[in-house]
Amino acid sequence: MEHTLPSWRSPYAHLASRQPDQPILYFSPQILLQTADRFLSHFPGLTTYAVKANAHPEILSNLVAAGVSSFDVASPAEMEAVRAVRKDATLHYNNPVRSEDEIQRGIALGVRSWSVDDAVEFAKLSNVAKTCEISVRFALPVPGAAYDFGSKYGASPQKAERLLQQVASEGYRPSLCFHPGTQCEDPFAWNSYITAARDIVGASGVAITRLNVGGGFAANRTGAAPDLKKVFSTIQAAHAKAFGPRGPTLLCEPGRAMVAESCTLATRIKGMRADKSVVFLNDGIYGGLVDLRDMGLSGRVCVVGPNSEVRRGSKLPRVVFGPTCDSLDRLPDGLPLARDARVGDYVLFPGLGAYSAAMTTGFNGYGLKKIVTVMDLT
Ligand SMILES: *Cc1c(COP(=O)(O)O)cnc(C)c1O
Repeated sequence: MEHTLPSWRSPYAHLASRQPDQPILYFSPQILLQTADRFLSHFPGLTTYAVKANAHPEILSNLVAAGVSSFDVASPAEMEAVRAVRKDATLHYNNPVRSEDEIQRGIALGVRSWSVDDAVEFAKLSNVAKTCEISVRFALPVPGAAYDFGSKYGASPQKAERLLQQVASEGYRPSLCFHPGTQCEDPFAWNSYITAARDIVGASGVAITRLNVGGGFAANRTGAAPDLKKVFSTIQAAHAKAFGPRGPTLLCEPGRAMVAESCTLATRIKGMRADKSVVFLNDGIYGGLVDLRDMGLSGRVCVVGPNSEVRRGSKLPRVVFGPTCDSLDRLPDGLPLARDARVGDYVLFPGLGAYSAAMTTGFNGYGLKKIVTVMDLT
């Protein structure tokens, strides 16, 4: 992805001056630093960053500048992206299914912590040094997230007990990890998981050094910022209740909640049917708007004219298509756009730093290719 310097004051200044015809992701390092600081100052343990949410070098280097030194990586390419901005970063390889080649790359790149959810996958790690942490990932049928991560990865608590015993008997540093599912709006999901972690530890007889409470922290999708401190205090209280004062060290690995707010996606209206009920944008579900397909519409959207004047007409729900010739390239119906929106206007989606640039494709010659650094997003 192309990166443009110098930085602009705001998306509005850049749009009015340049009138870009491609989608642009506006990134504010200042907002990323503020969010990182919230995790680093208030999470009761170690904050790592889940690189898949946004692996852009500007994002990674600003997180390093904020003081993040450990990263959750899922592939050798993500390891290299992290090493490119910080040579001595700590890598946690938390994709529990890996090819032999990927394992060798992980060893060569100095991974310190590996997660497993199955004995067959654990057996593949025989060349990993015994000084490494091996973290058993477990899953519960707990609701609260936008969709269920446990359907793919994570051992049942009974299977996790046996894996934890194997990890300990092979001489690795045993720990537990889980992921409650992305955009988890219910803090008590963490409560259930931490209680289950205590039960797994108790039943297995293996003391763990760390407990990784995953990502899944919710981003702002409604206009009201989620209460991260409440989630942190729920985690801290559950940990104290489950393990007492000498429990395992906590760590978290936010992706979405760390980067979402640091970027606004600007798209342009390229066409509209005569009755205005159908709008065509220059970006869609094969580009930077894919998260809306998976998560539903966010309550946050704004239309501005070519001089960045805000369209203030009452909101009219529309059918919105992306630019490709595929009819699936359609946002969930009912995106509320100002009645006076016109062709050539920009539609801004705040809070789209996560799973936007990271997931864009070049399908049909479209897609989100450009990130512009701005001082502020308002
Ligand atoms: C995706 C992922 C994360 C980040 O999840 P968010 O919902 O974006 O916070 C953290 N850990 C693991 C293992 C993941 O796969």
